[in-house]
Amino acid sequence: MSLNLAINRVPHLRDGSIVAKVGILGLILALFSLTPLHAQKSNGKIPGATTYTITKELLAAAPKRFYGSPGHAAAEKYILSRFAPEQKDHRVEIDSFTATTPAGLQSLRNIVVRFPSVGPGKKDGIIVLGSHYETNYPLRDIPFVGANDGACTSALLIAFGEYFRAHPPQGYSVVLVFFDGEEAVKEWGPSDSLYGSRHLAAKWSQDGTIGKIKAFLLADMIGDKNLDIDLDGNSDPHMVDLLKEAARNTNHMAALSKDTTPIEDDTVPFHKRGVPVLDIIDYNYGPHDAKHSDGYHHTAEDTIDKISAQSLQTAADLFLELINLVNLH
Ligand SMILES: [Zn+2]
Repeated sequence: MSLNLAINRVPHLRDGSIVAKVGILGLILALFSLTPLHAQKSNGKIPGATTYTITKELLAAAPKRFYGSPGHAAAEKYILSRFAPEQKDHRVEIDSFTATTPAGLQSLRNIVVRFPSVGPGKKDGIIVLGSHYETNYPLRDIPFVGANDGACTSALLIAFGEYFRAHPPQGYSVVLVFFDGEEAVKEWGPSDSLYGSRHLAAKWSQDGTIGKIKAFLLADMIGDKNLDIDLDGNSDPHMVDLLKEAARNTNHMAALSKDTTPIEDDTVPFHKRGVPVLDIIDYNYGPHDAKHSDGYHHTAEDTIDKISAQSLQTAADLFLELINLVNLH
């Protein structure tokens, strides 16, 4: 993932003056009308502790997951091991392809897991949840494990899989995508980054899947203990509004940044093809000082102790509420 060069700052909207205008009774009525009946029903259904434990297991099985390494294969094996029932039902697809990279031809694999909608509320269309699982290739010679950058968000998808196995989607079907090759091999650019998402977006354009996607929700770096989710300037504005609505409904407004930051991520190839996308990412990770010019991002310090079950809980609440909201809209 990469930040765009221009970072826009937008003022935080303040609503304090509303009290004077409508009075306390009016405010109470307004709050009732603003709080949907389903408020907070998403909270806690996918426990942060579960996602945290899965993150630890993934890191133990595959600390370094760059292409061509034993850890890359181990990560894939671990992810697949968590979807045995879906494999049996032929709902797991391994999307293998060869990418031309500055480090030569690389064999990459996206993992796609489908949870079809059931019941009378079944709707035609899919919601895609995505995360990349590989670790940064240029950092292959340092002890970089990407606890926040790749591991915890892949764990979040696994936790969502467990949830949907027990509670099949009622509206749109849900598809989990574990992307390979998000990171640049040498230097971030249109031809050196987002290998897995570019491949899958092109493939899904050809087979017609792309037109069925009602929302693409991407998780990236949202395990940070100090959660401060960016309002991504490259996501669809109405999807960013939906994120704010989800945060209000789950009482997680404090986890959202007030700044709009355009971010290049696995959402981009889908956005280019007209899919409504939302990147849920907290780019600002760790301290920024002489030793850490970009915080813990892409350093050997991106380790399990820098992320928290609480942040993973918040992220899960937001994702689940977003799925509810996409189904309602
Ligand atoms: Zn990264």
